[in-house]
Amino acid sequence: MLLDEPGRPLRLAELPVPEAGDGELLIRVHACGVCRTDLHVLDGEVVAGKLPVVPGHQVVGTVEGDGRRVGVPWLGWTCGECRFCRSGRENLCDRARFTGCDRDGGFAEYAVADERFCFSIPQGYPDLQAAPLLCAGLIGHRALRFTGDAERLGLYGFGASAHIVCQVARHQGRRVFAFTRAGDEGAQRFARGLGAEWAGDADAAPPEPLDAAIVFAPVGRLVPAALRALDKGGTVVCAGIHMSDIPSFPYADLWGERSIRSVANLTRRDGEEFLALAPAVPVRTTVTAYPLERAGDALEDLRSGRVVGAAVVRVADPVP
Ligand SMILES: [Zn+2]
Ligand SMILES: [Zn+2]
Repeated sequence: MLLDEPGRPLRLAELPVPEAGDGELLIRVHACGVCRTDLHVLDGEVVAGKLPVVPGHQVVGTVEGDGRRVGVPWLGWTCGECRFCRSGRENLCDRARFTGCDRDGGFAEYAVADERFCFSIPQGYPDLQAAPLLCAGLIGHRALRFTGDAERLGLYGFGASAHIVCQVARHQGRRVFAFTRAGDEGAQRFARGLGAEWAGDADAAPPEPLDAAIVFAPVGRLVPAALRALDKGGTVVCAGIHMSDIPSFPYADLWGERSIRSVANLTRRDGEEFLALAPAVPVRTTVTAYPLERAGDALEDLRSGRVVGAAVVRVADPVP
């Protein structure tokens, strides 16, 4: 499925099987998770480094030749030389290239990836259930780490990432408060079913102040809303790559050593840590599968909030 240019629908195309260069793997794709970042690429809010491009950056497949099952995440390549790469912050690399944005991704039968940026997929996760771990899980995990030891955790937007983070947070003994679109009782029930002790509308005040909040929804006005829900010393972590503008707010809302920060991309270390943690929790992903040619419908369902849990494109018969 190709994106020719931002604003256009994805197009089913017949492409030659890509060739793996030095240090790269040719992967037969089995499944690829659908992420809000794909929507930002489609809409041009995140600028693709190549066009046309095959989107999709939560790729699960097997390596042609040896059959190893691997996952390809958003971080597709880094320079290894800049000051960020040299200080354990490759997620901030000046020259980073991202899967499904600067390199062709996983909404296809085959993908090529730099072997150094591929992960092995933990046992016990079928392809469809593994796919959301690769971005919703990894970046959610990085965002959760930035909340420190916060006990009372708010999650704004209860989609693919939050449904994973909620399980990890509960496993760590944290208390979870879930915020959804106004009146989205389905999502609120879903959150309670995964261990959130309270679930309500995003504009509502939680029953008690929070120690941290993660904003997954790409909605800037939720940032001051989340800030107002915090106790002193609390942190708002913005987990998305793009967000509408954040409205101004009184300094008093930030006072008391509250902070706001973003999370950018992931490091390979995040991936290794999270993929070891997921089976120990164990994280169970709830997925809705779409055939490859309906990747565009999956994205529109994600946009309109119709997906419970994570949307995943199924490319071939899943290997159990
Ligand atoms: Zn993503
Ligand atoms: Zn670099």
